[in-house]
Amino acid sequence: MKENRIHNFNAGPAALPLPVLEEIRDSFLDLNNCGMSVTEISHRSKWFDDIINDAVVRTKRLLKLDDRFHVLFIQGGASMQFAMIPMNFLPDEKTADYINTGTWSTKAVKEVEIQGKKVNIAASSEDKSFSYIPKEFQFTKDAAYVHITSNNTIKGTEWASFPDTDGVPIISDMSSDFMSRPIDMDKFGMIYAGAQKNIGPAGVCMAIIREDMLEMVPDTLPSMLKYTTYSSKNSMYNTPPCFSIYVIQLVTKWLEETIGGLDKMEQLNKAKGDLLYGFIDSSDFYNATAERDSRSLMNVTFRLPDEDLEKKFIEEAVENGLGGLKGHRSVGGCRASTYNATGIESIEALVGFMKDFEQKNG
Ligand SMILES: *Cc1c(COP(=O)(O)O)cnc(C)c1O
Repeated sequence: MKENRIHNFNAGPAALPLPVLEEIRDSFLDLNNCGMSVTEISHRSKWFDDIINDAVVRTKRLLKLDDRFHVLFIQGGASMQFAMIPMNFLPDEKTADYINTGTWSTKAVKEVEIQGKKVNIAASSEDKSFSYIPKEFQFTKDAAYVHITSNNTIKGTEWASFPDTDGVPIISDMSSDFMSRPIDMDKFGMIYAGAQKNIGPAGVCMAIIREDMLEMVPDTLPSMLKYTTYSSKNSMYNTPPCFSIYVIQLVTKWLEETIGGLDKMEQLNKAKGDLLYGFIDSSDFYNATAERDSRSLMNVTFRLPDEDLEKKFIEEAVENGLGGLKGHRSVGGCRASTYNATGIESIEALVGFMKDFEQKNG
């Protein structure tokens, strides 16, 4: 089974740790001697309670969250959060600041506008095709919150440190770098992440929300669109996405017990980034597209001398067991997504292939 697994550079859904997949396989017909699969048990059972509680406890330990933070599981992906955030946290008379660093931020802004609420673009990197993270911001005094996208999956940029917002809570879409490094949660009112990039299968979004934020949630919202419904019911007001939550539990266990926490995870991700960007920088054939100080450790975007070569590169990579290297359809080029579960051996294989390809075609 192991032998024909490829080096997986998919952007999302993306690679999961092999030990996690093996554990899913081994316990799939009979979860913890209960005689049923995780997909067959009640979400009100003790078995599922143990799963969701363990996922929450491990998340809190990994991110060093104190008691003020709620860990929630919500369906609808990160895209649903684009709409729920202004519904819950942006009163009509207030303004929210958004920093626009690419497609996902742009979509988040659109959802505020649809609701007819006030949004201020505090900074944007659109002038240079979103190839960098802005350093100067025009924040609104007394903004309800500042929304950022910590990692821009499509353009391959990532915030190295977070802006000073003078006490205004930052809300970050961390879909593609969640749990890839430690985070100082002091500045954040909320972080959220669609699971399918770094922590699990599609079908669930994790949201971590600070207690005081929940006081802003209007009573008038429909139950399923209100964060307080999730926080007061341990994310089980209705049937949660049980299987996805189960896999997240296994991934957080892998992060704690096999990797050794987020400091370790960050070291591994940095080593991977050094290897891949180091090689790209040493070559005249490959060109990284993100500005150096804004480079993502999760999505490495690069170009070859022309589009025909890129097409050939992606095809031959697949023949060599390296998958998912095509850039997002909106931007073209190449992209290697190097999430937590993609190990250094995959980066070594990629760099080996890139050298070879350059020699033959450069
Ligand atoms: C993939 C992605 C999204 C969209 O996630 P869905 O779960 O498909 O809604 C949003 N933001 C970022 C940063 C992403 O990478």
